[in-house]
Parts: sequence; C-alpha cells; structure tokens
Amino acid sequence: MGIAFIDLQAQRARISDKVDAAIARVLEHGRFIMGPEVTEFEEKMSAFSGARLSCGCGNGTDALALPLMAWGLRPGDAVFCPSFTFTATAEVVPWLGASPVFVDIEPDTYNMDPVSLEAAIEDTIKNGELRPKAVIAVDLFGQPANYPAIKALCDKHGLKLISDSAQGFGCTIDGKHPIEWADVVTTSFFPAKPLGCYGDGGAIQTNDQEMWDLLDSLRVHGKASQADMDAANYSGHEAKYLNPRIGMNSRLDTMQAAILLEKLAIFADEIALREKVARSYNSALEGSVAQVPFVKEGYQSVWAQYTIEVENRAEVQKKLGAQGIPTAVYYPIPMHEQAPYRRFPTAPDGLPVTEEKKHTVMSLPMHPYLDEETQGVIVEGVKAAV
Ligand SMILES: *Cc1c(COP(=O)(O)O)cnc(C)c1O
Repeated sequence: MGIAFIDLQAQRARISDKVDAAIARVLEHGRFIMGPEVTEFEEKMSAFSGARLSCGCGNGTDALALPLMAWGLRPGDAVFCPSFTFTATAEVVPWLGASPVFVDIEPDTYNMDPVSLEAAIEDTIKNGELRPKAVIAVDLFGQPANYPAIKALCDKHGLKLISDSAQGFGCTIDGKHPIEWADVVTTSFFPAKPLGCYGDGGAIQTNDQEMWDLLDSLRVHGKASQADMDAANYSGHEAKYLNPRIGMNSRLDTMQAAILLEKLAIFADEIALREKVARSYNSALEGSVAQVPFVKEGYQSVWAQYTIEVENRAEVQKKLGAQGIPTAVYYPIPMHEQAPYRRFPTAPDGLPVTEEKKHTVMSLPMHPYLDEETQGVIVEGVKAAV
C-alpha cells in the first residue's frame, strides 16, 4: 500500500465505534435537518475556541458568504484578501457584486502581509472607485494570520474582519483563537481539513448575538428571527414561512454534526500529534531543503499542511511520486492570475511574494497518525530527490 497524503482511515480506526453509534442515533431519531446534534455541536465548538456563538452551515464557502450577506455587501464594495489561498476565499465576494482586492503575503508564513494590506486599503481610498468594507484573512496551512496587526488596520479604517480559518480551526496566538480579533471566524469541515466531517460542512463563529440571529436567518432562506416575528406581530405561523430577507439554504446536516461531536472530542489531542509530526519533519529536513515551515513565536499552527520549499519542484515531485510518496502544490496559480479574477485590483506594488512562492511550495503527507517509520521513508525520499 502506498503512503497516504492524509490518512483518514487511521482516525476512523480510533473512533469508529463512537462514530457508528452516533450515526445510528441520528438514524433512530430521524431529525436529519437541524436536529439536536447541530445545536450541541455548535455549543461545544464555541466552548472549544472561546467564541460566544457558532452557526453551522453547508460548507466553508457558504460560511464566508453568509457574513458578507449579513453585512449587506454590494457592488462598489471592496474586500481585501490574499491571492495565495483556496479559491473560495475570493469567490464569495463577486457573488454579492463586490470586488476582491488582492493583497500580497509574508515570505515566511505565506499569510496576508499587513504592509501590503495597508498599501492596498490606502490605494483604494485614494482611487475612490471602490468603498473599503471588509478584510478576509486566511490561516493558511493552519497557522493564524497576523491578527493583531490586521485588526489594528481594520479598526483604523472601519473595516469588518473575517478570519477564514477553513485550514486553521483550533489555531491560536498566545493561546487566543482568531475570534479574539475577528468579527467572525469561518471554517470548513471538508473531510481533509484538520477538523473534517464525512461530507460537506462548515460553520461561522461570532461573539455578537444579533449577528448570529441574522446568520441563522440567512442560512434558512431568510426565515424570520424571533425579533422579526415580534415586530411583524406574526404569531401563529411558522417562522420559515415569513421571509423578511433573501437568504439561502445552507445548513449543517445533523448526521455531520453527530460525527463532528466525536471528532471534536479528540481534536486537541490530534493537534498535539500534528505538532509532533511537524517538529520531527522540521528537524529532519532543515538545511536539506530550501525552506522548512516557519511558525511565529507564540503562534500555534494546526498543520493542515506541512509545506516546504524546493527548487526544481516538478522534478522532485516526479521522483517522489515514483517511490509512492505523494506530494501536492497549494497553490500553483494564485487567484489574481486566474481568468475570472484578473479584472480585480491588486495591492499597488503588485504581489511579488505570491508570484515567487507559487513556484517553490510543496506539501508533504501530513496527518496526526503519520508513524515514525513512514515519516522516515518520506524524509529520506525528499533528501535524495532534492
Ligand atoms: C477549504 C477552504 C475553503 C472552503 O471550504 P469548503 O467547505 O470546501 O467550501 C475556504 N477557504 C479556505 C482557505 C479553504 O482551505
């Protein structure tokens, strides 16, 4: 058997009895849509990451779109985001007719560069064509973005801050989760993410009850909230048939919430295991490859990916592939170079770091259950290939 890039079966072997029982309970009670496990998971997820409230939804992409809808983003609004990210980060902005403005990354963490962000905000204001409204920072590969610096810029310019923590749920800076700085934190439960379910799923976190009510309405076709019901004097009818706003259908399935409850119970332990795997990769590969991952002092990555830099990447990947060692490139074509996004603005000095890193980054197999022997094979393979 070849080496797995992400071994989901190893995790399944650890908790399959619990997951199977959780699924059986849902089949028994039959409340497949917004069943009790959804609320229970939302509460446990909040407790885990220090947010007051969590709102499950259909996937990590809708989790980004829903707050933009709640804030009423519209044509002419600018949302600043990195270009070196998964498509979904920028994709949701044009859904609302608004424009992403692409910002460069730091060369060591690959996360949004606050200097480039500030230049992009000031340039947008000077230009006068777009209204700066929000920033979407990404916790790329699991490491938190520089929230203290980014939040200071958001406060200075009156911008909302979304933490796209699809790869970073559980990450911290000095023990604090991104909700300490962000207006909302979004995540994805796509199976390969650090906290994944067995299908699609996502969530939004906020400390603001009014915002939660709005998100809860928008995820169910703009159904009436309790406040809407009171205001409309509409008692006697079901809230979902009173629709004071246009929403969408984006709920976290009960079945997925039940699975996630079992996975969340071992998630802290899995983060520690990922950290251990990353450290032993680092000490084995440091000096042999162009760059091993750099994590800032006080920052805890959840290691969605273990990403190194190499020269002659294509050749290295080919050699490793021939030995049954899988690798991946995140991301070969940054967003601002993808056809539908080329018309949107970038930071005034361009994105030189993004354009450099797209050629050198390469991710190695990473998951909590990567054993020492397999890791040794990967390390030796990489050393020989470079
Ligand atoms: C995976 C991912 C998303 C989207 O999540 P889905 O659940 O697949 O919709 C958004 N942003 C980032 C950074 C991601 O890695």
